Amino acid sequence: MADDLKHPKMNSLIDPFGREITYLRLSVTDRCDLRCTYCMAENMTFLPKKDLLSLEETEMVAIAFIDRGVSKIRITGGEPLVRRDIMTLFRALGDRLGYGLKELTLTTNGTLLAQYAEELYAAGVRRVNVSLDTLDEDRFLKITRRGKLTPVLKGLEAAQRAGLKVKLNTVALKHDNLAEIPSMVQWAHGEGFDMTLIEVMPLGETGEDRFDQYVPLPDVRGQLEERWTLKDLPYSPTNAGPSRYVRIAETGGKLGFITPLTNNFCAGCNRVRVTCTGRIYMCLGQDDCIDLRAAVRDTDNPQAALDTALDRAIRKKPEKHDFEISANGQTSGVSRHMSTTGG
Ligand code: SAM
Ligand code: SF4
Repeated sequence: MADDLKHPKMNSLIDPFGREITYLRLSVTDRCDLRCTYCMAENMTFLPKKDLLSLEETEMVAIAFIDRGVSKIRITGGEPLVRRDIMTLFRALGDRLGYGLKELTLTTNGTLLAQYAEELYAAGVRRVNVSLDTLDEDRFLKITRRGKLTPVLKGLEAAQRAGLKVKLNTVALKHDNLAEIPSMVQWAHGEGFDMTLIEVMPLGETGEDRFDQYVPLPDVRGQLEERWTLKDLPYSPTNAGPSRYVRIAETGGKLGFITPLTNNFCAGCNRVRVTCTGRIYMCLGQDDCIDLRAAVRDTDNPQAALDTALDRAIRKKPEKHDFEISANGQTSGVSRHMSTTGG
């Protein structure tokens, strides 16, 4: 039976600018086994566990979104694979694939991927984004402040063996990996991984100067064009969101650019984010949020309360984000870390 017949889409989430929300990024923890310099402070204070939605509550929230037309869910964090029993959530949501949900995926730093790749595939995950900013062991330690590269490389191998399609996410960092980006692209494409480059965004205090880390991606693209032929790929439903993709003729692989600072792509935004405490943020770059935890916990009819909360939230989705890094080094961002909102 056709998917839409099995699960008719009623009451979909359309924001005041006419954008239909079909994509949920769902954070399951603010914790992480790494401390990437652009993401977290070295001595992060994490939330008390009691503040987090339980996995059952998280599932309830996810299902409320699926019932309102969300067809893609990305599990994120912090590091999603450090959340205890996280596979129960993947399995529960995997059961909704084909019943409203079309894609279940995750973004991970890869350190635990070797352990979970097969279970993820069995739960219905087919694609995974793995964040990797360098292939150099010492640099990896410097950027992550504590990590080791080898487990991530093993995780990537395990993901491929399990049948998961991998895309690498790489934040361009002026002093750490700028010179390495071409060789990383070459390597990634040689391994069969697509790759996306990301501009550093001013989200939360990290103890580092964001302007000092920031590289405008049009500059990186210019450097890559000196060596390779980059062909723009057309914008399409599978090539939507904030990333713009090119195909590199010489490597045959796809490369994306996420440029929230040099180029604002909010017009086509189809996503919202829910934190591990159940707050829905309509925009990564704005502070406005609505609490879904009370709707899940403190009512006799959580489904109806969630529905009402989603209606209120969708009416508040802003037209675009507010953050910027200007030429004189002034940054204006939001105080939440990416790991809090869910990257
Ligand atoms: N821990 C997982 C990981 O690293 O893939 C998932 C969460 S992480 C917050 C999601 C993505 O956000 C990663 O690709 C990371 O590189 C990116 N990120 C974190 N802080 C960022 C920032 N300030 N600017 C741009 N990207 C950031
Ligand atoms: Fe952890 Fe991901 Fe943030 Fe790095 S980017 S500190 S891996 S949450």
